[in-house]
Amino acid sequence: MARTNGTSAPFLISGGGIGGLIAAYSLAQQGFPVRLFEQSSEFREVGAGIQLGPNIFRVLEKVGLKDAILADAHVPPAQEMRDALTGKLITRIPLDAEFSKRFNNQPYAVTHRADIHGTFLKACQSSNLVTLETSRRVAGYTQHPDGVTVTLENGETVEGRALIGCDGMWSKIREKVVGDGQPRVSGHIAYRAVLKRADVPEDLWRPDVVLWAGPRTHFVHYPLRRGELYNLVAVFHSDHYEEGWDAEGSKDLLWKHFQGQVPQVQRMLERIETWRMWVLCDREPVKNWTDGRVTLLGDAAHPMLQYLAQGACMATEDAVILAEKVAARPDDLPAAFKEYQHDRYLRTGRTQIMARFYGEFYHARGVAAELRDMALSGRTPQQSYDGIAWLYGGP
Ligand SMILES: Cc1cc2nc3c(=O)[nH]c(=O)nc-3n(C[C@H](O)[C@H](O)[C@H](O)COP(=O)(O)OP(=O)(O)OC[C@H]3O[C@@H](n4cnc5c(N)ncnc54)[C@H](O)[C@@H]3O)c2cc1C
Repeated sequence: MARTNGTSAPFLISGGGIGGLIAAYSLAQQGFPVRLFEQSSEFREVGAGIQLGPNIFRVLEKVGLKDAILADAHVPPAQEMRDALTGKLITRIPLDAEFSKRFNNQPYAVTHRADIHGTFLKACQSSNLVTLETSRRVAGYTQHPDGVTVTLENGETVEGRALIGCDGMWSKIREKVVGDGQPRVSGHIAYRAVLKRADVPEDLWRPDVVLWAGPRTHFVHYPLRRGELYNLVAVFHSDHYEEGWDAEGSKDLLWKHFQGQVPQVQRMLERIETWRMWVLCDREPVKNWTDGRVTLLGDAAHPMLQYLAQGACMATEDAVILAEKVAARPDDLPAAFKEYQHDRYLRTGRTQIMARFYGEFYHARGVAAELRDMALSGRTPQQSYDGIAWLYGGP
């Protein structure tokens, strides 16, 4: 078979989650053709909320999607942390004009995963440079001096200029590029559910992002979709393991961990008939996730626990920066990919490591919990902003 000329061939992307779609759109915006392969029969995201720090809005502004994301989102007035055993406020961080001014004039917002995924999908569909293909599972790749050959699971081969693995936590492409086996199982489980606003008792509805910190548990809730929905996530320590992001969670297992917590927590948990469950995994940060004309992005490159609410934000930062590096060196993609990785690995590695610490912090017990509460309750908003500036002030 004749090989497609390396300079006119499309970029190939494996995976059409948040990372793959924004990578496709960012490359198209720089004038490059893209073919994206998604294994599922349709593009979709699980029904849950997602928090978006000011750092994601900085890069979304560059690709012109900030307003579209904000149109469906909810901008909470504050983040609150409360003690799940006493109900006491530990800290309240305003997400107001001062916050935004501090972080490049960008907001903090919360949205439905389907809304951010849908906005990225629509952006790709509006570009005549992006081809989206479903029911196409990438099985592997080989490369040659001026391109890559991707093999799909049905045996078909596809030629491209380069390959970007955006295929998530269990990435097939990572297997070959990094080869570090299965993800690390954290021993933490997240249960999630979304309620209609009308199904949330009036005295429990809050416009803020509220986190109830308990011993080996935490529970977060916040409004979604312009306030029409309400997102609930309950996290606890457990050795239970199931691969994937959409298993049904047992209520008995949940209640075992949230016994003894304040009525506000228990009454909210009682509202949910069916929970969906995520067994939380991550990986050790690595310095290299590039192999010539093949690189990784998002969870395929640096999967992290969700405690800093940054996995999708990092994937979006990756995508916009990757496209900029490629546009600066279109004739030397291995060098462009190395520059992208060099720009990204310490920031994403720090986020992977800090996310683990935050998990410990939220789930502290006994004296450790008292120390946490003492340290946080004395903080001014400015001190809280200083503590997170390395993350929200970037990239
Ligand atoms: C409980 C929880 C809460 C979270 N909260 C937040 C938050 O508040 N803020 C935030 O920024 N992040 C959050 N995250 C993290 C965020 O969800 C992920 O980091 C993000 O979705 C990763 O996107 P991705 O596109 O890299 O991977 P994925 O979303 O996993 O997408 C991978 C895609 O690739 C496809 N695929 C896989 N293998 C193949 C193959 N071989 N061929 C073709 N297609 C393939 C999959 O079907 C999928 O569509 C949270 C995560 C969890 C678990």
